[in-house]
Formats: sequence, structure tokens, C-alpha cells
Amino acid sequence: MTGQEGEAAFLGRVAQFAAGPVRAGAPCWSMGAAPDPAIFAEAAKTGILSVSIPRALGGAGFGFGTLVRACEILAAEDFGLAMSLVNTHNVALRLCRSAAPNLIAQHLPGLLSGGTAACTALTEPGAGSDFAAITAQAMLDGDGWRLSGEKTWIINARRAGLSVVFAHCGKAVGAGSIGGFVADLTQPGVLCDPIDAAFSQSSMGTGRLVFDNLALPPEALILPPGGAFKSIMVELNAARTYVAAMCNAMTRVALAEAAQYGSERHSFGKPLFAHQAWRMALVQAETDLAGAAALTAQAVAEIEAGRDAQLSAARAKIAATDCAQRHLPALLHAMGAEGLRPERCFARHLAAAQVASLTDGTTTMLRERVARLTLPRTDTRE
Ligand SMILES: Cc1cc2nc3c(=O)[nH]c(=O)nc-3n(C[C@H](O)[C@H](O)[C@H](O)COP(=O)(O)OP(=O)(O)OC[C@H]3O[C@@H](n4cnc5c(N)ncnc54)[C@H](O)[C@@H]3O)c2cc1C
Repeated sequence: MTGQEGEAAFLGRVAQFAAGPVRAGAPCWSMGAAPDPAIFAEAAKTGILSVSIPRALGGAGFGFGTLVRACEILAAEDFGLAMSLVNTHNVALRLCRSAAPNLIAQHLPGLLSGGTAACTALTEPGAGSDFAAITAQAMLDGDGWRLSGEKTWIINARRAGLSVVFAHCGKAVGAGSIGGFVADLTQPGVLCDPIDAAFSQSSMGTGRLVFDNLALPPEALILPPGGAFKSIMVELNAARTYVAAMCNAMTRVALAEAAQYGSERHSFGKPLFAHQAWRMALVQAETDLAGAAALTAQAVAEIEAGRDAQLSAARAKIAATDCAQRHLPALLHAMGAEGLRPERCFARHLAAAQVASLTDGTTTMLRERVARLTLPRTDTRE
């Protein structure tokens, strides 16, 4: 099988999974019900949890573009589940790239089979956008470490068995002392509990983690201070890009659904679509979506080529989240009351777009980033 055939087969399985259990579950998850845990093993069978994992370690070895296309397919049905799965995948990939063989052997099989969910924990109650202000600490204890601190709003935290946790190594403060640790969340010294958002996205599994002197072996430090902060910034460019692609997918599917409804639903003796004023909302969404999709494609291409994507990823996420936040309410409106039904995608995707504008760098912070990278003398820090 060639790489292209392999990708087509993989994406076909993801599409089938999305159209089956994800489509069936999404309306319930958007009303607060938790997904059946069996769905993660079903997801694993598509290959989504191992898409970019090297072949030598049991993965499919596909590039970033394939991961993005799979995320789009899933997010068109349910952004929350797509985010949950890609976060587990990312931890597996991080292990493959940075962890010692014994840690990979211990954790990878569970991650790839869907038996273990995983999360990446940066945010704390007192530090979100300002990541360098985190206060979690790992203190040397013999050969190993003792981790203490609290992480909040973490995707998968309510069901995760494993986490990459960012904390200061020792008592130092500032970005330079932050390291990334693999933490087994099933050990004593860890509390995981759910965080519910008023915009329900229960498939995302968001929660809080509290570490109370958790004992970690020496090899748990997979991203040592000095490189960890930079490494997470590079990873965030990828995350911003797939979140952008997912927002585009949500806007695209809402647009298609509204267009379809406009040809079926009649008012004043003709289909909604035949009313020029009704069509305008769709046309504006289509145009903005084309712009957001072009910026997203540029970011994907830069990441695939191994180039610095901080500007293109920031632009893509700003454009895609703005587009979704602006047009999903308008498309819901174009559906009339029908747009509010949980079986329809509109309310679910609208909630997801609000979440997307906060995760992996808020829109405001990304605008600041674009200003710093493109405009003269905008960095006014002392
Ligand atoms: C559903 C969900 C899932 C998440 N998943 C994860 C996860 O898996 N892992 C993880 O580590 N984190 C996760 N997060 C946390 C997310 O990364 C943070 O919410 C985000 O970094 C913003 O931090 P904050 O919410 O503390 O807002 P704050 O940093 O307190 O900011 C509040 C507001 O002020 C603005 N602001 C902040 N600083 C400035 C400034 N200098 N200039 C102008 N405006 C500013 C922000 O844009 C925002 O609008 C998740 C969040 C949500 C909502």
C-alpha cells in the first residue's frame, strides 16, 4: 500500500467512526452526558491515536497534515471528542520523541489502544496566558523528584491515566527553570476531578489535577529546563493549527447544513434560499471561511516543512476562531428555531468555538503575538 492509499484508508476509517458513534453521541455530550468509555477503544481502531507515532513504535508514521485532516473530520461532528483524542495522541508522540525506552514501553501500549487517556498540563489557577508564572514545583528527592502543585482546565484530566506536567525544577522561578515531567496519575499523591463548563463539552473531559508530593523517578523529567519552554511553544504552533482546522470544519459543516435546510424550508411561498437577504449570511460565512482555510493551509504547510510556524499558526487560529465565532451564531439564526436542536450541529459548534478561542493561546494573546512579529516597535515591554 502506498502512503497515499494508506492515508485514504485511515481517513476513511475516521470518517466512518465520526459518522457512527461520534454523530450518535455528540447531541448527548453537548447536553452534559459523559461519553461511554468504550468509544476510546473504538477510536483507537481507526488509527487516530497512533497517526503520527513512528512506525518502529507501532504507529502509522503519517505527517502533520494527515493528523489535521483527521481532526477536521472528527470536529465536524464533535470538537470535544476530537480534542480529547488529539491530546492523548500528543502525549504518546511526546513520549516517543523524548522519553526513556522503559517509560515508552510502560505507557505507549495503553495510550495507543485507547485504554489510557492522557493530558498536557500547563495551566494553573493563577497562571493561564502567562505560562511562565506557573508555581508548580518539582523538588529533587534522592535520584528522583517530588511534584506539588495544581493544574486546572486540563483536557482529559477527569479520565486521564497519564500526564505531561510542566513545573519548575527546584525553587527557581521564570521560564528557564520549567521542565516537563511524565506523571502517572494512578499513583498516590494525585487528585483528578472534573471541571464542568456552562457551555457543556463533556466529551473533552476537562478537569483539575492536584499533585501533593507525587514521587517521580529520575527519568520522568522528559523535557529538561532550558529546552522545555521552547519545546512547548513549538508544540503550541501545531495545536493552534489543528484547532484552526477544526474551527473551519465546524463552520463548513454548519454552512452546508444551513444551505441544505434553506432549500427545504419555505417561507412566504418560496424556499429560504430564494430570499436574497437570507442568503447573505451564508455568503459572508463562505467568504470568511475561504480566507481562514487558506491561512490554515499555510500554517500546515510550514509545520510539515519544519519551518518556524509561530506567525502562520497564530494568524490561522485568529482567523478560524473569529470566523467560527462570528458565523456560527448567524448560521444558527438562519435556521430559525430548528437550529437550536441538539441533533443539529449549530449550538454545539458555537460552544466549541468559544472554547477554541481560549485554548492554546487566547485570540487576544495571539493578536499580540502577530503584532510583535509583524509591526514595528509594538513590543513595549521594559
Ligand atoms: C475547555 C478548555 C480546555 C483547556 N485545556 C487545557 C489543557 O489541556 N492544558 C492546559 O494546560 N490548559 C488548558 N486550558 C487552559 C487555557 O490554555 C487557558 O484558559 C488559556 O491559556 C487562558 O488562560 P486563562 O483562562 O487563565 O485566562 P487569563 O490568562 O487569566 O486571561 C483572561 C483574559 O485576559 C486576556 N489577557 C491575558 N493577558 C493579557 C495581556 N497581556 N494583554 C491583553 N489581554 C490579556 C486573555 O486573552 C483573556 O481574555 C483549557 C481551557 C479551556 C477553557
